[in-house]
Amino acid sequence: MVALTIVTPLIACSLNRTQDLVLSVPPMMPSSWPHVDDCRSAYGDPTGAVGGASKASAEWEADNLVTVRLPWHAHAAWNSKLAITGLQVHRLAAPSLTRIVATLWLQAGKSQAEIDRVGLSAIGGGYNFRPVRDGGRLSTHAYGCAVDFDPNRNALGDGAPNFALAENRYVVNAFRTEGWRWGGGWLRPDGMHFEAARLARGR
Ligand SMILES: [Zn+2]
Repeated sequence: MVALTIVTPLIACSLNRTQDLVLSVPPMMPSSWPHVDDCRSAYGDPTGAVGGASKASAEWEADNLVTVRLPWHAHAAWNSKLAITGLQVHRLAAPSLTRIVATLWLQAGKSQAEIDRVGLSAIGGGYNFRPVRDGGRLSTHAYGCAVDFDPNRNALGDGAPNFALAENRYVVNAFRTEGWRWGGGWLRPDGMHFEAARLARGR
């Protein structure tokens, strides 16, 4: 019950922000991204013929994963000394992500200082074979269609993520223009998270 007391205001805040975002972002392009429940048919099965969710298929990884190079200098969010030059994602999502990071680089004025300020140089992750934190199904990260930026200032459960600030909103807009979903407005906010998937039907 203690957790509920804390979470409720965060949810209210998140809903307000979602409403705000809907008003301020450009209309989403007609998207061909799969519904989150259809990722397996669209992106293939990362568990491969072996099945199970404990280990990724090396064959699926070799067939599907590519690296999108970042136009700016970046590092692991958990270790500023660990340089990261690109994000590993599914080949079907890569052209779109390439356009997104190119757009963001231009919108940041090709300024590394602005990229650092807004949080795009602190990488939380791209492809990562793992189940969702609170359930049995695979995370969209396990399909290579999700990326995380600046988790320290956009933490899971944070109803006021840094990317929601007006001066940072161009990041969310760039992803939404390509039809990617941002997790910052979810009931359980995930402000670091962007994914090339649509909300499941009926939700
Ligand atoms: Zn994520």
